[in-house]
Amino acid sequence: MTARESDYETDVLVIGCGIAGAATALAAAKAGLRVAVLTKTADIEASNTQHAQGGIVSLGPNDKPGLLREDIIEAGDAVNNPEAVDILVREGHALVEKILIKELRIPFSRSSPDALDYAQEGGHSRRRILHIRDATGRTIESKLVGVLKRLPNVTFFAGHTAVDLLTVPHHSKNPVAYYRPPQCLGAYVLDNAAHRVKRFFAPVAVLATGGCGSVFLHTSNPPEAIGAGYAMAMRAGARIVNMEYIQFHPTTLFSQDGDGFLISESVRGEGARLKTRDGRTFMRKYSRAGDLAPRDEVTRAIYEEMILTNSPHVWLDLASHVKVDIKKRFPTIYRTCKGYGIDITREPIPVVPAAHYSCGGVLVDGRGRTSLKGLYAAGEVSCTGLHGANRLASTSLLEGLVWGTLAGRDIAAGFDGARPYKLSDIHHWYYPGREEEFDPALIHQDWLIIRSTMWNYAGIIRTRKRLERAESDLDYMRHRIERFYREARMDAKIVGLKQGIEVARMITRAALSNPVSRVAHFIKK
Ligand SMILES: Cc1cc2nc3c(=O)[nH]c(=O)nc-3n(C[C@H](O)[C@H](O)[C@H](O)COP(=O)(O)OP(=O)(O)OC[C@H]3O[C@@H](n4cnc5c(N)ncnc54)[C@H](O)[C@@H]3O)c2cc1C
Repeated sequence: MTARESDYETDVLVIGCGIAGAATALAAAKAGLRVAVLTKTADIEASNTQHAQGGIVSLGPNDKPGLLREDIIEAGDAVNNPEAVDILVREGHALVEKILIKELRIPFSRSSPDALDYAQEGGHSRRRILHIRDATGRTIESKLVGVLKRLPNVTFFAGHTAVDLLTVPHHSKNPVAYYRPPQCLGAYVLDNAAHRVKRFFAPVAVLATGGCGSVFLHTSNPPEAIGAGYAMAMRAGARIVNMEYIQFHPTTLFSQDGDGFLISESVRGEGARLKTRDGRTFMRKYSRAGDLAPRDEVTRAIYEEMILTNSPHVWLDLASHVKVDIKKRFPTIYRTCKGYGIDITREPIPVVPAAHYSCGGVLVDGRGRTSLKGLYAAGEVSCTGLHGANRLASTSLLEGLVWGTLAGRDIAAGFDGARPYKLSDIHHWYYPGREEEFDPALIHQDWLIIRSTMWNYAGIIRTRKRLERAESDLDYMRHRIERFYREARMDAKIVGLKQGIEVARMITRAALSNPVSRVAHFIKK
């Protein structure tokens, strides 16, 4: 199949199928639009969404929207966008009821046959987190994908990696385009198996590519989460904000093969305590909220204690403190730790912090519209301003559901079928004449350098000197990677490396240009 034959035209192109992309696709498809959904992995469900354990925020008993609002703003250090907070608080609970409970029939855990079980997590003043034991994301993701697969107007393209947004006038052959406002018209997309780039042409594209935890050495995110959407949006000229606010999760399993398996904060919500290697609890020393302090405070406290006790990790003790049935409430954590030889009903878990969530991203309004015409964004890749400088636990799945749905509805409401450009106006992907086989050892080493640079110089505790060092090291890497990219055969790994180095530079530059130390952007003077 040639690249030309495999170009594709649709009404809406959704890039990514975690909760945000799936919710957008669902809303747009329900309104009758033809929707193409891309996932870079062959497994459609592979995403950060699939890994979410703790749950999704809703409104619990004795709860009020105003209390949730206060908790979000307190966690975000009051640099949140108040309009975004109001939207989430106003729409969130109703959309959980309508879409997740009524339409998708998500089997949320119950405290009794008639009552949903609401969990509590750090930073929340009430029990208000709906969950499916400790594997909430997996069920939500597979139900959403299941529903989408049954819709005739939704077409999936798994194993397809968006390389760049297709924009006019930049990619246009039509000179008239220079006199019109810049506009996004889809994306150049690599068919991973065929190593060829297709044009996906659509009047509206939606970035729902998730976050960028995997540009750091230690992360809770799966390896695919390298922030491709930020890099594509930046190259297309969309506004991007708050990239310095990277939230680190305080507790991932410490193990040589642990790969950042996350130990949910709801474990501490149920009473588990953090301890040093000699069995001393320490969180009260750092925060009045003790083990239920917001995650950035817990993260830095652990980091400090690791340094003070010269230890590569601290301990998280469920066995001595948790009152609920551990195996029943945390079956995934129990099973996974057991697989590493740790019985959490009897012994503490060794834990380290890890890069977890990006609070900033592609700036969107209350309907998911970016600053670039024809481009929407939803979920972790976007910045609604909801999280401000730090995310309140379990609000991101809901943010993806709310903004995905609102974006899908807005796209449908504004869709008139008009096509000011034709596919023939758009350049094909340019391949250099010479395409070398790439050497995987080079990619492996380049990633190692990017990830350790980000961890050591732009990670949990930043200084100006460290950030400057990161910037110059990454700039040097970028030149090398650019050359490599131009010469090698198109491959998803090379595309990822090029996007990853750009994202690392964006985070570093944003951190350097914001001298104000604040929660998820902590600068030591
Ligand atoms: C371990 C873990 C636990 C978490 N627990 C919770 C929790 O309990 N509650 C909560 O609210 N949040 C939690 N979060 C955060 C939450 O899961 C994410 O913020 C949220 O799922 C992001 O959803 P998304 O739809 O934006 O992106 P994702 O779910 O990450 O989906 C990204 C999609 O984009 C696709 N994609 C990426 N790049 C490209 C490309 N170039 N081309 C084509 N496709 C591409 C991927 O294939 C994927 O389909 C957790 C995160 C992790 C990692």
